[in-house]
Amino acid sequence: MDNHSLILHVLGSSGGPVNTRTQGFLFQYEDEFFMVDGGSGLSALPDLFKGQYLKENDIDSVSYLYQNADQINEVYKKATLKSSIMKFTANSLPICDLSKSNFKSKFKGSNIIEKSMDLYSKIQNIFITHPHLDHINELIINLPILYGTGLSNLKKIIYGSPNTNLFIQEHVLNFKIWPDLTNPTPTNSNHPEVRLNDFSANDICNPINGIDVIRMSLNHGECEIKGQLCIVESSCYMLLDKKKRHLHLIFGDCEWDEKKFPLLILKTTELHEKLGYKLKTIVIECSSINVDERTNLYGHMNPNLLCMALSKFDNIFDKQQKINLCITHVKQTITSKDPREIIMQQMNDILSRGKMDQYFEVSILLNGISYQL
Ligand SMILES: [Zn+2]
Ligand SMILES: [Zn+2]
Repeated sequence: MDNHSLILHVLGSSGGPVNTRTQGFLFQYEDEFFMVDGGSGLSALPDLFKGQYLKENDIDSVSYLYQNADQINEVYKKATLKSSIMKFTANSLPICDLSKSNFKSKFKGSNIIEKSMDLYSKIQNIFITHPHLDHINELIINLPILYGTGLSNLKKIIYGSPNTNLFIQEHVLNFKIWPDLTNPTPTNSNHPEVRLNDFSANDICNPINGIDVIRMSLNHGECEIKGQLCIVESSCYMLLDKKKRHLHLIFGDCEWDEKKFPLLILKTTELHEKLGYKLKTIVIECSSINVDERTNLYGHMNPNLLCMALSKFDNIFDKQQKINLCITHVKQTITSKDPREIIMQQMNDILSRGKMDQYFEVSILLNGISYQL
């Protein structure tokens, strides 16, 4: 494993409604960690300490849902689950087998739960794309563990747009839905620091050495609150690998719009042209399969809309190095076929029809897998 590369540990990538681990991405650069979204958290960390061969048995709980109920037996299950890793991962996206690196030895503890807690304590910065439950649920549920562990200097800084933070504070951490566990100014090192930190659009921050993060605002549909039509705001976090000059775009739920999405593309182009950042990865949602034009997407993408949005990045396309397009947040449907397979097929068809397959390589992210970006 290249020591200076960014690793994405997919803790959760489901778009619901079955709660098979919703969106939570853990990033590792050298021995430092941060997260984008907190739909999955502590419960998914033990998976990182399992060997790849052990994971292959249960890695893809979603494929399991789409198996013919008469065919479920252990042999069949093992074979299909193992093949789902191959089926959903492009050759250009290397998988890290953490059991072969010295990952386990980086953490204190005699058993997996202690090691998981040590890893959890090293994740001090969490970037939230928007306050929907599937992007914050485990982050919030895990917070009490920070109190009363006996460990010192525990810290969680939760970054989000000013509205995201306001909504989490007012509507979740309000002692009605969940205790207000924020503690911005701990009086001693035995008290954790838990803070919501406003992160405005276009701002930059530096959560760990070597990686800068820029937040861009995006639209995620509309809603009506007290008779007023409001835009649901979401975010894309741009991760800048300063050493390699690689750019990775990590999207929250979103749709195409004529204002904010073009601003994100403009920013990507500027980083490319002025500072030499190469767009290496796009992690983006594709919640629904293409059905017909009238289907309400509730502020999400389908393959048609996603490919349309991707085509707008055309001024930085480069045939020499394809962009890894990593699909996440696919919604489970009550159908006979796994919607992720349909999305993969539809994405590849549309990309090749528009001759964009020379610029993108499609993968669907799987829970519990670590990818080298
Ligand atoms: Zn959402
Ligand atoms: Zn979502």
